[in-house]
Amino acid sequence: MSFRQFVVIGLGRFGSSVAKTLYSLGNEVLVIDKDEEKVQEMADFATHAVQADATDEAALRSLGIRNFDVAVIAIGDDVQSSIMVTLLAKEYGIKYVIAKAQNELHAKVLYKIGADRVVFPEREMGVRVGHNLCSSNILEYIELSPDYSIMEVTPLEEWHGKSLSELNMRSKYGINIMAIKRGNDINISPTADDVLQEGDILVVVGATDDLKNIERRKM
Ligand code: ADP
Repeated sequence: MSFRQFVVIGLGRFGSSVAKTLYSLGNEVLVIDKDEEKVQEMADFATHAVQADATDEAALRSLGIRNFDVAVIAIGDDVQSSIMVTLLAKEYGIKYVIAKAQNELHAKVLYKIGADRVVFPEREMGVRVGHNLCSSNILEYIELSPDYSIMEVTPLEEWHGKSLSELNMRSKYGINIMAIKRGNDINISPTADDVLQEGDILVVVGATDDLKNIERRKM
């Protein structure tokens, strides 16, 4: 999936950070906030920066919102506005709407009205930092669902010099190696013959419980 045109609504810490990243990657980014000061601060980091109340249907329509591929609804504390704007974005036919939630109930409502993805930035970052701090071997941790995760991990010492077929990760540990990073190279389709080396970084996907076993080095 590669999207090109993004609208980011709400320019708090999360929204402005998402918008700056998208813009720096060469995408077309429209940012909207009702706070003029926030809009000014983002003027150099977006294709268009507009002051508007996003719950105002006429304002959204005049900005041509329906032409955007992705909407990021990054309104934090104002749950009512977040819900209304998410609903409008879906009604306008935006293909992918991602919204930030304050709590579980908020997230449930957002999904019910059609949000394609709901995020909890502080909570997700907290989980990642927790995993990073616990084990020096865990470099990155992404929860896909409550049951499955992706992890970047350095190989156990006993894995060094062994091929993937020898290690038999899938049946032995219940994990799949999606990619092997070695220096600046990334092998995105590792085969049974690939041999792991010290210094490699493995991108693995699996059941969260199985990954936790690797994390605790209990195997
Ligand atoms: P964060 O926790 O990511 O910093 P905030 O809740 O502080 O998020 O920021 C949310 C932003 O959304 C604020 O800049 C606020 O002005 C903006 N905002 C809230 N409601 C609306 C709305 N109806 N239309 C446009 N912007 C809004």
